[in-house]
Amino acid sequence: MTRSPHKPPARVAVIGAGMVGLSTAWFLQEAGVQVTVLDRTGVAAGSSWGNAGWLTSSLAAPLPEPAILKYGLRAMFSPSSPLYIPPTANPRLLKWLAQFARNCTTARRDRAMRAMVPLIHGALPAFGALEAGGVKARTRPADPLTAAFRSAQDSKGLLEEFAHLKSTGRPVDFDILDGAEARNAEPALTDEITRVVRFHGERLIDPARYVRAIADSVRARGGLVAEGAEVNTIHPTRTGVTVAGEDYDAVVLAHGAWINRLARQAGVRQIVQAGRGYSFTVTMDQLPNGPLYFTQQKVVCTPLGDRVRIAGTMEFRDVGAPKDPRRIQS
Ligand SMILES: Cc1cc2nc3c(=O)[nH]c(=O)nc-3n(C[C@H](O)[C@H](O)[C@H](O)COP(=O)(O)OP(=O)(O)OC[C@H]3O[C@@H](n4cnc5c(N)ncnc54)[C@H](O)[C@@H]3O)c2cc1C
Repeated sequence: MTRSPHKPPARVAVIGAGMVGLSTAWFLQEAGVQVTVLDRTGVAAGSSWGNAGWLTSSLAAPLPEPAILKYGLRAMFSPSSPLYIPPTANPRLLKWLAQFARNCTTARRDRAMRAMVPLIHGALPAFGALEAGGVKARTRPADPLTAAFRSAQDSKGLLEEFAHLKSTGRPVDFDILDGAEARNAEPALTDEITRVVRFHGERLIDPARYVRAIADSVRARGGLVAEGAEVNTIHPTRTGVTVAGEDYDAVVLAHGAWINRLARQAGVRQIVQAGRGYSFTVTMDQLPNGPLYFTQQKVVCTPLGDRVRIAGTMEFRDVGAPKDPRRIQS
């Protein structure tokens, strides 16, 4: 905003009251902007409600990478694959998948990795700024975060990823435990697990609680958060944009997996394909001491109060498609 030759916007509409929309609104308020956040359902109604709550810079890496092609795109057409692509004739999705495959090279993965570095360095301090500025929720340490494997061989992929992160200037603080030592460190694991890699310095949030706390803070600072307010059209005007019949200086599209339709109205040609994941929260006889990561299945477990949220897998399908129970069963 400060670099723009134009006057900074005074009134901004933000579409979507998830983590992205509300934190954007909060930081716009820091810059003196009057915000209105509109959500068709309510605060944290999308993936910001059901995610695993991990704030893990050592796991933040681009999804397209050479190993995916090695593993075989064909395997991804199986509904039990951690990364699943259901058969589709949707030309937009096919176009997106072709672009995804083109990005699975070392050079492109490394370029994307470098582009992420400033974002990763800014992420935890941004949570710090929210909390120092009055958001009444806290991140908590995830120390350690435990990745569990049936064999040392199975952990090779993760250790290679860590070596690669180190080579791009993002060293990961971790240790490795084998056999009984591994299970002693995390008694919730069964004796099928013979190796764990524990990483340190990562953090967690209770996702829905955190997002609601940001909404409370946005309201307390004079912003409007309108629930049950679906936006179907945006109209550019000479001086700004009309959203839901109101004039604003600018609009932020932060409505997650549903972004494409309104983005197209704004002239954005780039296709955004949401990766769908699943989560459910259960009680367990033995709660894990901390978060667990089963990298090969792409499943994580997060202790949330007296329950555990199990989350993960990814599939690329139409945003409106019904959920696929096979993904949860497998
Ligand atoms: C199972 C799972 C686990 C995950 N675990 C993690 C994790 O551990 N760590 C992590 O960093 N990320 C995780 N993620 C990703 C993370 O949840 C998302 O990146 C994040 O929540 C996206 O936030 P958002 O605000 O963009 O979207 P959302 O939270 O989906 O919010 C979009 C909002 O827009 C609203 N909306 C949609 N259309 C309209 C419209 N037309 N008009 C008005 N409102 C509209 C919706 O109601 C919704 O509230 C996970 C995702 C999943 C699915």
